[in-house]
Amino acid sequence: MRAMIMERIGGPLGVREVPAPALPAGGVLISVAATGLCRSDWHAWAGHDDIALPHVPGHEFAGIVIAVGPGVTKWAAGDRVTAPFVEGCGACEWCLAGNAQVCPQQQQPGFTHWGSFAELVVIHAADTNLVAIPEKVSFEAAAALGCRFATAYRALTGRARLAADEWVTVVGAGGVGLSTVMIAKALGGMVIAVDRNTDSLGAAAALGADHVLVADGSDIPAQVHALTGGTHVSIDAVGSEQTCADALLSLRRHGRHVQVGLLPPVDGHPRVPMARVIAWELDVFGSHGMAAADYPGMLALIESGSLEPQKLIERVIGLSEAAGLLPRFDTANVAGMTMIDPRR
Ligand SMILES: [Zn+2]
Ligand SMILES: [Zn+2]
Repeated sequence: MRAMIMERIGGPLGVREVPAPALPAGGVLISVAATGLCRSDWHAWAGHDDIALPHVPGHEFAGIVIAVGPGVTKWAAGDRVTAPFVEGCGACEWCLAGNAQVCPQQQQPGFTHWGSFAELVVIHAADTNLVAIPEKVSFEAAAALGCRFATAYRALTGRARLAADEWVTVVGAGGVGLSTVMIAKALGGMVIAVDRNTDSLGAAAALGADHVLVADGSDIPAQVHALTGGTHVSIDAVGSEQTCADALLSLRRHGRHVQVGLLPPVDGHPRVPMARVIAWELDVFGSHGMAAADYPGMLALIESGSLEPQKLIERVIGLSEAAGLLPRFDTANVAGMTMIDPRR
């Protein structure tokens, strides 16, 4: 198969023919039709994850099942599918309770095994982890769900439990941030979007953000408090000490913060303003994707047209172009989502 190959951490990425992955028991082999490029891919490339080399990145995808391993009962060749980026084992207490996103034996395509920046990808424990794509939903839209969109959906619903007419501060207007804006508006919330990139803020406004604030070094929490008295919910969709603090300090008393952007402990653990968490009795949540079991509610909103993840896709590129873009993805300032067609 043709795939994007990482030979070493932080090195240049190439595209070439490699052997197709072996089909494990309980797993399926999928022909990739669309796959999203995400900041998490950059984290893996930069060495923030434990990966075995050579490696194929990519963890947000949609495609068609072409072969099923022994023991798979729910899926067959020809099925249109996607999967969350966390593959639960399917057998532990967390998976059996529908929480595969925190499975202790989890695997992740593009991290623990070869991912979807290739013509073919394997998904383990398919009966637990695959999601059928409704006929009306395109491969590109479905590929947008697996990581950022589903994570935003679960952050707002399963974690922050956003109610209609509540204010949300969304720090970061990249893929996950724009997903959060779209979903918060669909849930009846009011949104302040924050980003350093004015193009990204333009995209957030187009998706219905009630206010946008440029992160230009000015006091973001003070501006949020002036506009709203502090928001009920805050989401850090970037993952830095600054964005985490800006989001958390934008909350009103008893507010709920959800940390979505990854905070790798590269310079020691990031400092978080816990004094405010204590004094204002703030709730702080983590969010780690969403299990396949929770997809039906989100897919119903997509099928009905209330949510349109395809609107977040700004460009579709081939594998070679993606190989050039990935190493500079943390600073590339690309608005919206980038989708890869691995057949290009
Ligand atoms: Zn499990
Ligand atoms: Zn991702």
